Amino acid sequence: MLNQNALKEMETRKNRIYLDYAASTPVLPEAAKEAQLVMLSDFGNPSSLHQEGQRARAYREKTRQLLAQAIGANPDELFFTSGGTESDHLAVLGIAHALKSRGNHIITSSIEHSAVFEICQILEEEGFQITYLPVPSTGIIEPEVFQKAIKKETILASIMMVNNEIGTIQPIQELVQIAKNRSIYFHTDAVQAFPYLAINVKELQIDALTVSAHKIYAPKGTGALYLKRGTPFKSPAAGGEQERKVRPGTENMPGIAGFGKAIELLMRDRDKDAQKISHLRNQLEDSLLKKIDHTLLNGDIKKRVPGILNLTFQHADGESLLIHLDLEGISCSTGSACAAGAPDPSRVLTAIGRTPEEAKNSIRFSLGKFTHPEEIEVVSKTVSLFVQKLRSASAVSFSA
Ligand SMILES: *Cc1c(COP(=O)(O)O)cnc(C)c1O
Repeated sequence: MLNQNALKEMETRKNRIYLDYAASTPVLPEAAKEAQLVMLSDFGNPSSLHQEGQRARAYREKTRQLLAQAIGANPDELFFTSGGTESDHLAVLGIAHALKSRGNHIITSSIEHSAVFEICQILEEEGFQITYLPVPSTGIIEPEVFQKAIKKETILASIMMVNNEIGTIQPIQELVQIAKNRSIYFHTDAVQAFPYLAINVKELQIDALTVSAHKIYAPKGTGALYLKRGTPFKSPAAGGEQERKVRPGTENMPGIAGFGKAIELLMRDRDKDAQKISHLRNQLEDSLLKKIDHTLLNGDIKKRVPGILNLTFQHADGESLLIHLDLEGISCSTGSACAAGAPDPSRVLTAIGRTPEEAKNSIRFSLGKFTHPEEIEVVSKTVSLFVQKLRSASAVSFSA
């Protein structure tokens, strides 16, 4: 039961405008209820043989079934993890280590999420050679560039389906075809794709794929890894039989139960929500571009998911803008959550050709299921006001 304080708290939060869905989403009440059930009633350890265990197991297997249907996989090709980061780690490390004797070259991109980027840096220390593909200003990887990067030692490619900072959609189908022709295994981080795009791992012929629960309105701390049957894999983890040893350790049952419900609702509402969100994103974009001159759109205007809008407001410091907006009740981001607090300009924005200065003057607005049309105009007005203020404070004159 909610007490008075909790209700008051929710009331105040209602006055805020949340535009950071790419960082995390609110949990759907239906998903929270499912999570609550496995905490309060069906709390058994899913590895136990007794009835409590069996009941917990039923939730886990239901979610596995739902996810299998959602992405066109077989249930036995899915492994629950602690989230997108862990799935990325397992995929890249597990496949690279299993294929070490065949070759030591891995291809990734310069705009990957830090989960893939940093695991590649660790592999470099282990003696693997990594190619970080350059990405043009569109934010879309060129298949010819990928093709040219392939060597006879190449064993694995890891390229994200949708970028989390600029929302661009990568030509995964073409890239996988090129990889297959050279017998290279292919992993994709589909964390930001899952909320918006229909994914079919069999049609894509992908070997490994990452999803995360908290980007689709389920609890944090849960994700899944798809591993195609027969994919060479040597788990870096040890210690138990869970998830067929790919990811040992007692499962995050509240997360997994909530994830299942969220997947069910995603399949029901995805197309409808995508249309609505895309419309609102376009409104926000048009309004901001009209109100604020010297504004640049980051990424590609066509090949992008509906929820993400990344803009550079020249000569207006992004972090100051973010803080002003937060005080006004508007939540957005300067890029990836992991970069928050760090003074470094976004690695993704500099990779697509923005100067460090421009990258620092950039804001990501990410919309979602609960974004309201009335919020768009408020955000646009407030952003416009503070960009002008910051610009006049920094005393830059625009000599056009
Ligand atoms: C959020 C995100 C992750 C990390 O997922 P967690 O579940 O938060 O660990 C990985 N990749 C992308 C593209 C993301 O947006």
